[in-house]
Amino acid sequence: MTIPVLTEGTFDELAASLTGPMHLPGTPDHARLATPWNVSIPARAAAVAEVAHAADVVAAVRFANRAGIAVAVRATGHGASGDLDGQLLVHTGRLDELTVHAEGWARIGAGVKWDRVLDAAAPFGLAPLVGSAPDVGAVGYLTGGGLGPVARSYGLASDTVRAFEVVTGDGELRRASADENPSLYWGLRGGKGSLGIVTAVEIDLVRQPTIYGGALFFAAEDTERVVRAWAEWCPGLDRRATTSLAINRLPELPTIPAPIAGKQTVSVRFAWTGDPAEVEQAVAGIAGVATPIFGGVGVMPYAAIGMIHSDPVDPMPSHEEFSLLRALPGEAVDALLAVAGADAPSRQIITELRLLGGALAEPAVHESAVGPIDAAYTLLTVGIAAGPEVAESIADGQAVHAALNPWATGRQLPNFAPADDAAHLRRVYGESTLTRLATLIAAFDPRGVIAAGRPVLAAAE
Ligand SMILES: Cc1cc2nc3c(=O)[nH]c(=O)nc-3n(C[C@H](O)[C@H](O)[C@H](O)COP(=O)(O)OP(=O)(O)OC[C@H]3O[C@@H](n4cnc5c(N)ncnc54)[C@H](O)[C@@H]3O)c2cc1C
Repeated sequence: MTIPVLTEGTFDELAASLTGPMHLPGTPDHARLATPWNVSIPARAAAVAEVAHAADVVAAVRFANRAGIAVAVRATGHGASGDLDGQLLVHTGRLDELTVHAEGWARIGAGVKWDRVLDAAAPFGLAPLVGSAPDVGAVGYLTGGGLGPVARSYGLASDTVRAFEVVTGDGELRRASADENPSLYWGLRGGKGSLGIVTAVEIDLVRQPTIYGGALFFAAEDTERVVRAWAEWCPGLDRRATTSLAINRLPELPTIPAPIAGKQTVSVRFAWTGDPAEVEQAVAGIAGVATPIFGGVGVMPYAAIGMIHSDPVDPMPSHEEFSLLRALPGEAVDALLAVAGADAPSRQIITELRLLGGALAEPAVHESAVGPIDAAYTLLTVGIAAGPEVAESIADGQAVHAALNPWATGRQLPNFAPADDAAHLRRVYGESTLTRLATLIAAFDPRGVIAAGRPVLAAAE
């Protein structure tokens, strides 16, 4: 594709055909919608189409084909990874339809965040498989797999998708399910936005009105004891248990509770989908390893599941690194403690391990571009990408992954890897998945206008 010359009037034709508004650089709405949640990523989209109907998305993609402009998509900006310089950004915030069906499924517009689905499903005793932060967009999360706080019980959230409605790169609105366009259905579950712009999704909900869960925070001096106990605890856990551990160095902010703000702590997160009586003793065991300084575990409404991780809601400048680990033997724990433990001068605000396995290790009913996950743990580091020590903070994060590299599988997950980077995508998808995605892109987006498809094509070469 040749690079188009953008002039003041480039987007007039599209603006005239949309029911939603169009925003150009220099306007407050452009700045609001083009600035991602990770505010360290620049907001340079050539224009923002704030679509209000699926027909607007069709118009935007067909315009992109005529104008030779790449088109990107965003709902909340939580997963933005690259600059959108010269690209048309389709913002889906106004695609806000949501219907929960008492029989156990929901139809969700592309602009809807998980917290709305949680609240709408709760009166029926139903639950969507959300991630650690319900503030994230449902569709963006589902296109990347979706690894949440009850994932070992129920598997990846993308496997709950019954159907997508999607505008592919050729400008056609299509339905993709196990029966209609099954190849698109395969690729949209894990392929992120590389195959088109989803306008709505239909998902199965699980019957889970409550869970037994929470988080226990311990003081810095107990880090080693807690990390070692957690690592020994994990392999014996039933699949009804999902757990993660975080070494935290949270900043001193009014939104962060005083006992854990501005200091180093270690936290154990836990969610159990079975009868609480069967697991209370095991949780008391891990809680008794040291004296918790904050938090608790108990029966909670499923709709409050976001409290388990209590991820930040306000936008922040951040950098992340992610690895999948085969195992976490004692030597790996030693290596982790040396780079991220109480005595390590790490600048990561969070160094997190999540236990995988259970349903995550099993093939889904319908094969997809992600899963089953052939690894035992995830390792995620997050640092602040602002201030004078950004380079040192990035280096600290990399040092954690280097230290654990002997136990890494070399692979990554779509929701935790920058989608604009071919090198990362080669770690996310195996060779056959990349080839299959590239073949689908060639078929459904012959001019290559979908921005997220381009790095997939580059990675497949
Ligand atoms: C605080 C935080 C916690 C998180 N926790 C988890 C977690 O526990 N588990 C997990 O799996 N992930 C997690 N993530 C990652 C998150 O799921 C992804 O970043 C997801 O892409 C966010 O979707 P979004 O729509 O909110 O973000 P956006 O930035 O709006 O979109 C991100 C990407 O999603 C795709 N996308 C969005 N909308 C569409 C659409 N309509 N059609 C096609 N593609 C689309 C595109 O590739 C887009 O670039 C977390 C992220 C954050 C910031």
